Formats: sequence, structure tokens, C-alpha cells
Amino acid sequence: MTVQDNLSSVKIEIEKACRTAGRSPEEVTLVAVTKTVGIEKTKEVLEAGVRHLGENRNEGLLHKHEEIGQEAIWHFIGSLQTRKVKEVINKIDYLHSLDRLSLAAEIQKRAEKPIRCFVQVKTSEEESKHGLHPDEVLTFMEELAVYDKIQVIGLMTMAPYTDDTKEIRKCFQTLKAVQKEVQDLHLTNAPCSELSMGMSNDYFIAVEEGATYIRLGTILIGDK
Ligand SMILES: *Cc1c(COP(=O)(O)O)cnc(C)c1O
Repeated sequence: MTVQDNLSSVKIEIEKACRTAGRSPEEVTLVAVTKTVGIEKTKEVLEAGVRHLGENRNEGLLHKHEEIGQEAIWHFIGSLQTRKVKEVINKIDYLHSLDRLSLAAEIQKRAEKPIRCFVQVKTSEEESKHGLHPDEVLTFMEELAVYDKIQVIGLMTMAPYTDDTKEIRKCFQTLKAVQKEVQDLHLTNAPCSELSMGMSNDYFIAVEEGATYIRLGTILIGDK
């Protein structure tokens, strides 16, 4: 299957999920996660018409950015080490993994323009997942207000990898509920209108539950 074929099937699924939820497919931005593939496959993604690319490591981001540059819109989706912020921060358009004030402070220091950020929230009990506890999010948003380089456009979460669709759906509903609480604060630094949720295994549910950015790797590109 080519990326173009995979993309066609994914788009049909997005449309279906939107129809069941009474949403418009235009509200959903597809981020192609290219972390496991090289330049050639990444270019195939661009040629198929997907401009938003997601990387989770500095090395991958820098390498691909050097080859592709402004042709793509760059999303950093992995955890970002504070000491490595300066390498990538002015090459990315979106950060999906803001999860601590020390990271925000370093971004403030290094970014030449405001960075669109998602605050990462831990919506499941799974140990391996990063992010703030839902109860910590409101305070965190208020603390971020002093950093004018941080524009909190939304929240991001990862559901556990499981066949239990109820459990997955619950994670996405939790994120949506936290978003509502943030929006009710009417913070100018955190409009929080976006939800980054949904991967290959669960994007259908994520779109039904209100995702505006979905991050797809395997199902779109494969893993080689
Ligand atoms: C790898 C990764 C994805 C894509 O995962 P797939 O299951 O391959 O679609 C999405 N989000 C994050 C944060 C990732 O690390």
C-alpha cells in the first residue's frame, strides 16, 4: 500500500467518525508521524498532500527539517528535554508535550516567536505515559501566563494501547472535560480550543470525541 492509498482510507474513516459525531472533517488536522521512516517516505507523505509532520526526537526533527524545511509544518510530539530546547524550538510550529514549568521557562528564553503548545495531560493510569494529572492543569495554565512565548492552543493526551474501547473513550472524554474547565477561565494565554488526541489504534474514537489534531504513524506510513 502506498501512503496515498492509506491516506484515502484514513480520510474515509475520519469522515465516518465526523458523521456519527455531527462534526465537519475540516475541523480535523492530520499530523503524519514520520518518526520511524526516512526522508524518502517523508517526501512521499508530502506528495500525498499532508503538510503537517510529527517527530518525537531532536535528531529526527533536525535531520528532516534540514532536507525539507518550510515545505512542511513541524510538530514536536515527543517529550522534550530542557537542555535540548534550543536545538529545535525555532524549527517547530507546534509542541504537543508541554508538561512542566521548567520546560516553559526554557522555551521562553530560547524561542524567537510564540510557540503553539499543547499541554500534555495524563488521562490514564498507565505508568509509561507522561503529562500532568487532570487536577493540576488549571493551576499550570495560570502559571504559564507569565511566559509570552507560550501560546496554549490546546491539550494533548495518549490513550493506553488496548482493545478496551470504553477505556480509550473515557481518556478522550476526560481531556475534553479538562478543556472545558480551562476555557471557562478565559485566559488570554490559553484559548485552549484544540485537542490533540488519537493515534493509529484509536483515532476513530478520538474524532468522535472531538479531536482537532490526530497523530498518525503506522496506519498511514507503515513503520519502515
Ligand atoms: C508514535 C507516536 C504517534 C503515532 O503512533 P501510531 O500508533 O504509529 O499512529 C502519535 N503520537 C505520539 C506522541 C507518538 O509518539
